[in-house]
Amino acid sequence: MDRMNPQRPNDAMQITHQEARSILTETRGFTSVEVPGTGFHYSLNPYRGCAFNCSYCYAPAFVFDDEARRNWGRWVAVKANAEHLLRTAGRKGKLRNKNVYLSTVTDPYQPIERKLQLTRACLQAMLLFPPRLLTVQTRSPLVVRDNDLFQRMTPGRIAVCMSITTDDEAVRRIFEPACAPIAKRLEAIRTVREAGIPTQASIAPLLPCNAERLADLLDPAVDWVVVSSFRDDGGEGRKTRQWAAELYREHGYGNYLHDGDEHVRQTTATLQRLLGPERVRVGKDGFDQVCRELGVDEPQLEQTSFLPVH
Ligand code: SF4
Repeated sequence: MDRMNPQRPNDAMQITHQEARSILTETRGFTSVEVPGTGFHYSLNPYRGCAFNCSYCYAPAFVFDDEARRNWGRWVAVKANAEHLLRTAGRKGKLRNKNVYLSTVTDPYQPIERKLQLTRACLQAMLLFPPRLLTVQTRSPLVVRDNDLFQRMTPGRIAVCMSITTDDEAVRRIFEPACAPIAKRLEAIRTVREAGIPTQASIAPLLPCNAERLADLLDPAVDWVVVSSFRDDGGEGRKTRQWAAELYREHGYGNYLHDGDEHVRQTTATLQRLLGPERVRVGKDGFDQVCRELGVDEPQLEQTSFLPVH
């Protein structure tokens, strides 16, 4: 079994800089525009690789170099020309009336972002060339840094999503040891929400948890919640790293793995009871909900635009 080299604390991160050929990737599968008015036209990944190295991450399945795939979590390639490419795409009108997902196969707020501010530069480019809808997906409290830019975006055209996969810090440390504690993520997304930005908790994937306690934590922090199962990656679990499945068994959570659909059903029912059914969605339908409820139509785009950057 390919254990994908779980990262140890002393493993050095390899950071490289490269010139990307393009920055907007047409989506396929889980996030794609299958039904008009839903889904995302483009994914935007300012980085390749990811220092967070989540045990269940499906992104390595899209890395075609065997060694790089095995060493997932130990390297990050910086797309140094990301902002330039995005501004060029914007000038050509490619962002116009499009839904953009930042990011799908990396975290836009991973540790190196604090220094490089590449994601921030991409956001600034999208202030000038606004898409129909920008969804920012992260698990890093660093996202709060860019609240000033989110606030300059027209309401209805921006949502910020924080991955919160469990209420249990012990579970978080098993499956996401390199990520921020749950409390820090909740504090961050609550700060984004209090700044007036629509917020989502992405329970993706749902890990072992206490659903009542999770609801209590999420209630003040986010506007709505989307729940995805451990296998809900658009590929029926084929792309999910095997490391996570090993951890489930190793730590006595094998029943959650075996009865994953039931765990999702029960947890979703509890969250809906405590938070209200309109605030809790499941799987792709949940991710599409943001597209249906946010994102103004093209005629309105002519009348509303982002406020000036400076
Ligand atoms: S933050 Fe996202 S891209 Fe990075 S390792 Fe975790 S699941 Fe994968």
